[in-house]
Amino acid sequence: MRALITGVTGQDGSYLAEQLAADGHEVYGLIRGQRNPRRAWIEGLVPGIRLVDGDLLDQSSLQHVLAAVRPEVVYNLGALTYVGMSWQQPAVMTEVTGLGVLRLLEAIRVVDPAIRLVHASSSEMFGAVREMPQNELTPFNPRSPYGVAKVFAHHTVVNYRESYGLHASTAMMFNHESPRRGPEFVTRKVSLAAAAIATGRQFRLSLGNLDARRDWGWAPDYMRALPLMAARPEPGDWVLATGETRSVRELVETAFAVAGLAWRRYVRVDPALYRPADVEVLCGDASKAAAELNWKPTVGFAELVARLVDHDLREAR
Ligand code: GDP
Repeated sequence: MRALITGVTGQDGSYLAEQLAADGHEVYGLIRGQRNPRRAWIEGLVPGIRLVDGDLLDQSSLQHVLAAVRPEVVYNLGALTYVGMSWQQPAVMTEVTGLGVLRLLEAIRVVDPAIRLVHASSSEMFGAVREMPQNELTPFNPRSPYGVAKVFAHHTVVNYRESYGLHASTAMMFNHESPRRGPEFVTRKVSLAAAAIATGRQFRLSLGNLDARRDWGWAPDYMRALPLMAARPEPGDWVLATGETRSVRELVETAFAVAGLAWRRYVRVDPALYRPADVEVLCGDASKAAAELNWKPTVGFAELVARLVDHDLREAR
């Protein structure tokens, strides 16, 4: 199979590219920007990967790339993904994360409607949740410009599927983390701080809302599900989650314990780090993915946090 991945230099795109290449697929990655510093990194990581220039902001670039590569499947993992940033640059966020998906769908429709699409949807769409836990049918109630853009993108994928018969699916992914997660996300911010404090290079950690709860999983687990979606006879929507919800406070406590630290000595709450609106709790029900894709996450909360802190401790030393 020939696959094209958008967002190939990100956490998800890079894991998916590695998995697909290891399984013998032909892997193309969409890459943007002159002298993109991540170009060499991804080429070193994924032997045989071919990078093609294009941008989710540029309709004609997407059409040129699809016409040139002729992928059987497109995995759309390209987006601005940091919720915190979505208040500072809401229009840029909406252009890339929302309208970018519309451009990609239009390009598929025009170039070759037989191209399959798997799009990364987000648990942030559930926002101020309407039920616990959240599944594919839970009503959306987003609480950030990012969440709103993701709702737009999700509904657009579903509408192109139903209007034009595209084989377009969504992976409705809850938070998923790894050492490749950016340091602005709370998991990495905490694991990096625990490692830096344990090695004497940092003395404090400032955080925002400690009461927020998330369903955190292991990113490579989630990437295993995407090719299963592309291979289904019928497209659809599937929640990917662990079903376990933990607070930021529990995250800090667990991470600092792994590093041998008592967290209360180092952590302070900074009201400036609170968001204008926050998603208080997320907890996913992935039973549809279990039943239909035979997918199950393999890494729980404690193991996830241990992997992040162990990684960052190794790097710090
Ligand atoms: P998100 O779920 O995609 O927004 O992932 P994040 O890792 O950015 O945030 C998860 C939760 O942690 C949110 O409810 C944040 O408000 C909360 N949080 C508390 N302190 C911090 C912090 O210092 N940085 C970040 N990124 N999140 C924080």
